[in-house]
Parts: sequence; C-alpha cells; structure tokens
Amino acid sequence: MNLHIEGRVAVVTGGSSGIGFETLRLLLAEGAKVAFCGRNADKLSGAETILRQDFPAEQMLAYRCDVLDPLQVADFAHAVEQRFGATDMLINNAGQGFVSRFDETPPDAWLNETKLKLFGVINPLEAFLPMLERSDIASVTCVNSLLALQPEEHMIATSAARAALLNMTLTLSKELIHKGIRVNSILLGMVESGQWRRRFAERSDTSQSWEQWTGAIAVRRGIPMKRLGKPQEPAQALLFLASPLASFTTGAALDVSGGFNRHL
Ligand code: NDP
Repeated sequence: MNLHIEGRVAVVTGGSSGIGFETLRLLLAEGAKVAFCGRNADKLSGAETILRQDFPAEQMLAYRCDVLDPLQVADFAHAVEQRFGATDMLINNAGQGFVSRFDETPPDAWLNETKLKLFGVINPLEAFLPMLERSDIASVTCVNSLLALQPEEHMIATSAARAALLNMTLTLSKELIHKGIRVNSILLGMVESGQWRRRFAERSDTSQSWEQWTGAIAVRRGIPMKRLGKPQEPAQALLFLASPLASFTTGAALDVSGGFNRHL
C-alpha cells in the first residue's frame, strides 16, 4: 500500500527510543525524510547510528532539543527548515508518564505533568506551524494515552493531563483544518518501551524474565490480548494518521491498547 509520503518530511519528537524510534524506521522505509529530537545526546546519536545502517544519512536529521524549551524547539524547527525546507507531518511523541496516587503527588508533579503533556505539543506546534501551513498534506499526530478517557488511580496526575491534551487536540483539529492541517491522536494502553524497561529494571522479583513480567502485568490488568503492545504497533497507527491515507480523518483518537479500552 502506498502511503504517499515518499520525499515528504516528518518531524518526530522523542525519536531516540521506543515508539518514536520505531516510527522513524517506518517513515524512512516509506521514503520519507525524518527529523527527530530528544534531550540526551548519546541516546540521540545512538539512534541515528542504528538508523544509518539501513537508511541514507541524507534522509535524517537528529537534533538535541527539549520540547519544553520553546527556544530549543524554535532552533530545531530552524534546523529542519535549513536542511529539508519543509515539514509535512509533525508527530508529537516525546514524553513519559508519572506514577503516583493522589496522596503521593506533590504540587510540582501536577504542574510538571500538565506542562509536559500540553507544552510538549504546544511548543513544537508553534515552531513548526509556518512550515505545516505551506504543506499540501499537513498533519499533526499526537501520542496520547487511554488514561485520557479511562483514568487510573495510580497515575492520577498523568491521567488528568492526558485528558487535557485530548481536549486540546480536538479543539485544535477544528481550528487548524482551516489551514489545511489535520490533527489526530492515538490512545495507548501499555506498550513495551523505554518507560516499561525502566520499571522492569526496578522490579521487586528479579527472577522474572521480561516476557513473564510483562505478560503477568497484562493479565493482571485485564488486557484482553494478554500482552503489552510492541512499539511498532502504535508506530503503524501513527504512520496511518500522519499520512494522506487518513486524508478525511481529523479530530480522531485511535485506540491502540489491545482491547484495554472499556468506554463506549
Ligand atoms: P521512551 O522512553 O522509549 O521514549 C520517549 C522518548 O521521548 C525518548 O526519545 C526521550 O528521549 C524523549 N523525550 C522525553 N521527554 C522529552 C522532552 N522533554 N523533550 C524531548 N524529548 C523527550 O518511551 P515510549 O516510547 O514508551 O513513550 C513515547 C510516548 O508514549 C510518551 O509520550 C509516553 O508518555 C507515551 N505513552 C507510552 C506508553 C507506554 O506504555 N509505553 C503508554 C502511554 C503513553 P530523552 O529521554 O533523551 O529526552
């Protein structure tokens, strides 16, 4: 199937690992040019080195940037414009979750979560908007979580911030379609990637393998598919929504949770 993105430019925030990294692989395999960012320079250059084994260096730009710093994001956008001259697809993926119940959540964690979830999208959108406005296939696609609709007690601040992001992206979809820009999201359940690897490293029962540990979590949490998602699975959904294959879809939130969703 042709995604119609060959030679087009995709920007992926948080592309140095996990879902973002797999999204880059799929984009590059479709012939797109990619620009990606992350905060950690070593992780970023490690990801670039791996990608260069399979794809031409001219097709990619890795840039160190914290999406919460508007000046760094503006520099990133400038670098993309200098290098590729365009941005057709903005994929807002950078971020992480925060595990805490209400009585464990300090005021600054509420603020940090809200800032990450909202400004992690607002800053890149503001910086890349002029280029998106010039594209004839422009899209903004956000990685969000099922927590936005199905909050969990042990991630109260993340759930609330995710709901705010879902609300904001729906409104953005109405406003930006007048500039020809589609805005969509994916809603994740649990996906094997960086944040789960970090929690696995800190597990109490170290006799459990990765498969046993993740499989047990999936069963305990009631995921009908009895496993966590693979990073390629949300990446595939991101590619569909970001590409012209989804040309009549805006304001959508696509569930990628292995059936974990319980809302109508
Ligand atoms: P990873 O930790 O593997 O990837 C996160 C990526 O984002 C890394 O490249 C990281 O690089 C980058 N990043 C984080 N914060 C910033 C920042 N402030 N500025 C720029 N880059 C940043 O995790 P996942 O692939 O799992 O996560 C991808 C997205 O999916 C996140 O937004 C996460 O919250 C969301 N999500 C994931 C779920 C899961 O089960 N995996 C569930 C629900 C949502 P660096 O640290 O170097 O900055």
